[in-house]
Amino acid sequence: ALHLAKKNEQSFAFFDRQANNIAQAHLDTYSQLHKAIEYKEFELYYQLQYTEDNKIFGAEALIRWNHPTRGRISPDDFIPIAEKTTLILPITSWVINTACIQLKQWQKNDYTKDWVLAINISAKQFLEENFVKEMQNYLNIYKIKKNSLKLELTESLLVKDLDTTRDKMKALKDLGIQISLDDFGTGYSSLQYLKKLPLDQVKIDKSFIKNILEDKSDIAIIKSVILLAEALDLQVIAEGVETKEHYEFLKDLGCKLFQGFYFAKPQRIKDIVANNYKLLNK
Ligand code: C2E
Ligand code: MG
Ligand code: MG
Ligand code: MG
Repeated sequence: ALHLAKKNEQSFAFFDRQANNIAQAHLDTYSQLHKAIEYKEFELYYQLQYTEDNKIFGAEALIRWNHPTRGRISPDDFIPIAEKTTLILPITSWVINTACIQLKQWQKNDYTKDWVLAINISAKQFLEENFVKEMQNYLNIYKIKKNSLKLELTESLLVKDLDTTRDKMKALKDLGIQISLDDFGTGYSSLQYLKKLPLDQVKIDKSFIKNILEDKSDIAIIKSVILLAEALDLQVIAEGVETKEHYEFLKDLGCKLFQGFYFAKPQRIKDIVANNYKLLNK
């Protein structure tokens, strides 16, 4: 018994150390995030989005953190930490501002003038008292065309307060901002939400696309999302489309919009320009 107790103690100590390490890593990330904007360590990548006939109709902006010693840090490793604090607020403002500057650029070019740019907005930012006002400011400053900016929100918002969420979405739509429900199907999706909220688009989460060639229940889910969206007059976009087979299968199911490595990876603007001769400005 003593032996066992010792062993337990050791493993507790081990877990403690593990927990401590994780806590310390979070703390490091947190304190370094503070400086990241000032030191210009963030960068936006853009992943192009395609129609069923292979035309680009827009892009999603995805943040990257180029850390001076730790290298490239993925948003999945720092956005959740930023979201737990108010740090997400200046980061999101930086994202919106940077994205608007890029969108304005696109609107000056014939080939890209109708592209829609999507940005990810965390629940914490969306729920800020002055979020609508802030969005309005950006639209005014850059004179962004109506309905060319799209916000990607996740279902985590919806559990909060449906009425407040709906009112805020309506106010954003009145400003000419589109709204997409990101990672659809992974959270507390309810058919009520789809009906009650003024959404423009649902984005089928990539976890449903991965095994679409063999997983019958994933196929059934995607089929019903497409039908439902059609009935409610919502756009459907599939994310995580990695292969030609994915694309063709989804197209057969009636999906009309696509995003994924098969079409394009998230890229820097200069690479997007280099890869699309039509973008080379006169
Ligand atoms: P998300 O909004 O669902 O973005 C899609 C993620 O899937 C991106 O990961 C993208 O690079 C990745 N992806 C795209 N195509 C494929 C594919 O074909 N296969 C696979 N396996 N993955 C694909 P990323 O860029 O690492 O971003 C992860 C998450 O971080 C995003 O998920 C979003 O929730 C969050 N995020 C990214 N940028 C921002 C931002 O500016 N603000 C906020 N609040 N969150 C952000
Ligand atoms: Mg997204
Ligand atoms: Mg997503
Ligand atoms: Mg996601």
